[in-house]
This record gives sequence, C-alpha cells and structure tokens, in this order.
Amino acid sequence: MKNPNKFIDECRSELKLLGISHGKIRNVTVNTRAKCHWGECRKVSANIFDISISALLLDDNADIGPLKNTVMHELLHTVPGCFKHTGKWKALANLINEKLPEYNIARTMSADDAGIKHISKEPVYRYILQCQNCSALIKRQRKSKVITNYKNYRCSKCGGILIPVDETRTDLI
Ligand SMILES: [Zn+2]
Ligand SMILES: [Zn+2]
Repeated sequence: MKNPNKFIDECRSELKLLGISHGKIRNVTVNTRAKCHWGECRKVSANIFDISISALLLDDNADIGPLKNTVMHELLHTVPGCFKHTGKWKALANLINEKLPEYNIARTMSADDAGIKHISKEPVYRYILQCQNCSALIKRQRKSKVITNYKNYRCSKCGGILIPVDETRTDLI
C-alpha cells in the first residue's frame, strides 16, 4: 500500500510552485470501507481539514494518475472559497489540468477512469442529511422532497432537526 502522505506532499509542492496556497491538513487517513468513493475532504474548522483517500487508489498495483488526481482534487477543497465543485475550485482544477499535463482533475471519477475493475456497484449517496440530535443519517441518491425541503422534516427516530451534511464535508464520488 502506498503512503498517502507522500502524495499529499508532492501535490502540495506542485500547488506551491503554481502560487496556490491551501489550508492546513490535520489528518490524512486511508479509507478502506467505501468503494467507489475515492477521496474526501472534511472541514475541521475554518482553515483546518482532514483528508481521506481510498485504499483502492493506494494499492501497490493501482496507477498513480488517478491517485494524484484525487489527492489534488481534495487538496483544492482546502483552498479558501473552494469547498464546492464550482467557481474557484473549478477554475483552479482547470488551471492545474492545463499547467500540469499529467493531471486530469474532474468533479467525479468512474471506476473505469480510475483504472479499477471489480468494484461492486454500491449505491452512491449524493445527498445526506444528519439529525442534529441523534446523528442519524438520511441518505438519498437523488434530490427528493426531504432533501429540498429538509427544514420541513424531522428525524424519524427522535424528531431532531435535519441539516445537510455537505455543509461541513464534501465528497468525490
Ligand atoms: Zn434523530
Ligand atoms: Zn470534491
């Protein structure tokens, strides 16, 4: 298994050379559970982030390209104003793709693009609400009524208030 920190460091120096300053990385972890979930950037506080990278990408037999695209994708989320996949994040991703031809950073990456076969098709939940009382998660693959009007709904277990999880966390699917 490759060490994710090595790739984080590589990507950081590449960002530095391009004059892009990013947030502080507190923890880098390897995600062994979720399949088809390449990386994640979690906001710990205003300028501090945790990053996790899929074990599938860090496998010794996996290509380095998709791994670096993912690491860079997540690092870019730590740049101020880049937590979403639009606006500044997209502009910086395009800039890196242009300046550093080995990159092809995208919002999402399929298992085929990642060069990873034999991945079980697990459902991908793009929309997640979390109960602020009991922490239960409500996951939806599509924008349903509860997602668009979450303020009108309460947790079915405890009646707690529901908040979209993507306000503190963003996923590369
Ligand atoms: Zn609850
Ligand atoms: Zn992302």
